[in-house]
Amino acid sequence: PRPVVALVGRPNVGKSTLFNRLAGRRVAIVEDVPGVTRDRNYADVIWEGRAVSVVDTGGFEPESRDRLMSQVREQAQLAVDEASAVVLVVDGRDGLTALDRNVADLLRRAGKPLFVAVNKVDTARTEEDVPLAEFYGLGFGEVHAVSAEHGRGVSGLVDAIVEKL
Ligand code: GDP
Ligand code: MG
Repeated sequence: PRPVVALVGRPNVGKSTLFNRLAGRRVAIVEDVPGVTRDRNYADVIWEGRAVSVVDTGGFEPESRDRLMSQVREQAQLAVDEASAVVLVVDGRDGLTALDRNVADLLRRAGKPLFVAVNKVDTARTEEDVPLAEFYGLGFGEVHAVSAEHGRGVSGLVDAIVEKL
């Protein structure tokens, strides 16, 4: 069976945009309104000759701010259970949030290869303002500044993941 690579993280960080870029086509719905990915989306891809399944998560409508944390955790746990490797997607412009930390704690327990994709780092100029050290502080080892929208840094992320599969 193909190894599954899961994209997890809180709403609106760009998971579906990254998924579409990795899939090479528009599969997931990208919206400014967080949480529009209703169902989990899978895409079969070939990365450097390896067959991989990528899964986008976050398929829920946040019911309330109170429920947001538990829903993100639920989605993350489901994804981690079936994944060979997990990419925590965060928003570089926001820095590390409490919700990011919470999900990171859950992921760490899974004992699987973990990557942080610091998204929305659209330009070299943006990268200067992004607190990458905060994200390294999660202890995941691999931190990749990317722009899902423009493709910046995405091939480096893919290379790193393939190496660990
Ligand atoms: P999800 O809820 O995590 O799946 O996030 P989406 O993929 O739906 O994206 C949320 C918002 O962030 C949308 O308005 C996207 O256009 C925007 N977005 C996603 N990736 C990037 C990026 O690399 N750069 C910028 N500037 N915006 C992005
Ligand atoms: Mg989405």
